[in-house]
Amino acid sequence: MNRIKLLDKALIDKIAAGEVVERPASVVKELVENSLDAGSCRIEVEIAGGGLDLIRVIDDGSGIDEDDLILAFARHATSKISDESHLWALSSMGFRGEALSSIGAVSRVEMYSNPGQEGHCIQVEGGEVISLKPAPSPPGTSITIRDLFYNTPARKKFVKSAVTEGNQVYDIILRLAFSHPKVSFSFSNERRRVFQTSGNGHIPEVALAIFGQDYARRLMQFRGQYGAIQVFGLTSTLELTRKNRKGQIFLVNGRVVKNPILGVAMEEAYRGLLLSRERPVGIIYLTIPPDQIDVNVHPQKIEIRFNDEKAVFQAIKSGVRTALYQQANPNITGQQFLTRLESEQNNQSPSKGSSFTQYQSALPLKYDLQGVLNNNPDNWVPTRAVETEPESSQWGETRQQFTQSNEGFRPQVKTFGQWQDSYLVCELEGRLVIVDQHAAHERLLFNRLKETESPVHEQELAVPVAIELPEDLLTIAEAKSELLQELGYYLDRFGEKSMVIRIIPAMATDQEVETLMDILEQLQNHNLDDRLHLDEGLKILACKGAIKAGQRLDQLQINHLLEEWFRTDTRDFCPHGRPTCMVLEKSDLDKLLKR
Ligand code: ADP
Ligand code: MG
Repeated sequence: MNRIKLLDKALIDKIAAGEVVERPASVVKELVENSLDAGSCRIEVEIAGGGLDLIRVIDDGSGIDEDDLILAFARHATSKISDESHLWALSSMGFRGEALSSIGAVSRVEMYSNPGQEGHCIQVEGGEVISLKPAPSPPGTSITIRDLFYNTPARKKFVKSAVTEGNQVYDIILRLAFSHPKVSFSFSNERRRVFQTSGNGHIPEVALAIFGQDYARRLMQFRGQYGAIQVFGLTSTLELTRKNRKGQIFLVNGRVVKNPILGVAMEEAYRGLLLSRERPVGIIYLTIPPDQIDVNVHPQKIEIRFNDEKAVFQAIKSGVRTALYQQANPNITGQQFLTRLESEQNNQSPSKGSSFTQYQSALPLKYDLQGVLNNNPDNWVPTRAVETEPESSQWGETRQQFTQSNEGFRPQVKTFGQWQDSYLVCELEGRLVIVDQHAAHERLLFNRLKETESPVHEQELAVPVAIELPEDLLTIAEAKSELLQELGYYLDRFGEKSMVIRIIPAMATDQEVETLMDILEQLQNHNLDDRLHLDEGLKILACKGAIKAGQRLDQLQINHLLEEWFRTDTRDFCPHGRPTCMVLEKSDLDKLLKR
């Protein structure tokens, strides 16, 4: 057995560092929080190589005295608390005195600081102070971190690509900028200015500076009060959604916090207004009396718990929903709307639900035809339409009968027509089949895209379209340009926040921007490889190119669609996995109608 040994200081520092500095973004967070604690009005952040090569934070804060410079890099050295009582009355962001020592242990640091009269420069490498000398510098502090994790290869292995790490840094800084609107933040990545906020305290201006005009103008300002809770901020109109929750930022009493209830409440406000995969975007500020929250300050994140979760939920939901409602109905006041919302909620008791929903659970719905056809669909040749009755059916559409056109098994298909311009209703082998026209067509298009060699049909735009994108999507667009070209998108960088779209996939005509946004957001999922990304991209194209619900089809189109769909062996589900059809047996209806 190995003997017990005391660890040497360098190793202890490295272990401690692992807890505080996980990745470049956590270093940036610590440094910027130090600048904020020092009362800075302007903070500049610059990174290169995703922060692994270089992180520089410059502030105009209080600066550090010469005598304190070495101490600042010692572990558990802090100017922010001196005894335990301070722990409970904390207003500063950092207090453990661990950040600088940890960062110094795993990188090469150079810090200039000038508390007013004269400046000094300290160099620290792998935890050792290399030099400390007078150096002229402007008031405030400028700290440069190079070669992060150079002496901890194990940690470095966990760090992802420069693009991913750069995006994490961006995420951190934009959150800090929203939580400190009165501080001017600037962020540059690879010498390119990503954004700069003015520091004038106006939140919509922070959003404008960070996201650019196209994005920011789809955010609405709102404000509300629910008991002792105040809620305000920016929330998206229905035209601005994302496929993930990255666009949702919550701040309680000025700090960015995490708690699942917050996102749920926000999405509840949009219930019935967005598609199931769409997520709203927003920056939501809550002011809650401090005795009603429980904050656990972990170095990397702030988990929060609420004494009255329900009140927080209602505050967000009604605040956001009022904003949405007012945008749609500018003539109704917020109070009138809230009264209506309350009565809407009170009426939702199950006994008052529609009579049909009561039976829904009793209905054995089937979503696949495979069992119905009892036959290998590959061998099946669709029947040919031979007879068309004039407007006779109760659907107000023509009714068509397929008959056998060849030898062998031929299912009998009768199409009754289109219902609500969204569903195709037909009878197959004695069962009633209701087909979701969008999902069915989406499946067909996706299969076609997958089959051919160069799948996507491209179209050059007569007038190239310029779009402004948030930084994380811009970097993805640049990093994945080849994949985007396989999907039919040819883009070029254009200025600080924009790209120009020159060629688009033909299926995305008229929706080229939103389709691109969907694809870019999908590319943010780092768990997929490029082949899977391509597949997901093709699904998005198929979805955009497919016939929509609500689109009227003529009889010929209905027949074509149903024919091809019946022949497709993966017909039962759309590429996203939703069922394309519902099958009803006569016995199902009998049961439903209590015959
Ligand atoms: P903590 O922030 O928890 O006190 P740190 O290791 O982050 O610990 O910083 C140690 C000390 O260095 C701080 O308490 C503060 O006095 C000083 N310091 C660090 N960064 C700055 C800065 N940008 N401006 C002024 N003082 C700073
Ligand atoms: Mg700190």
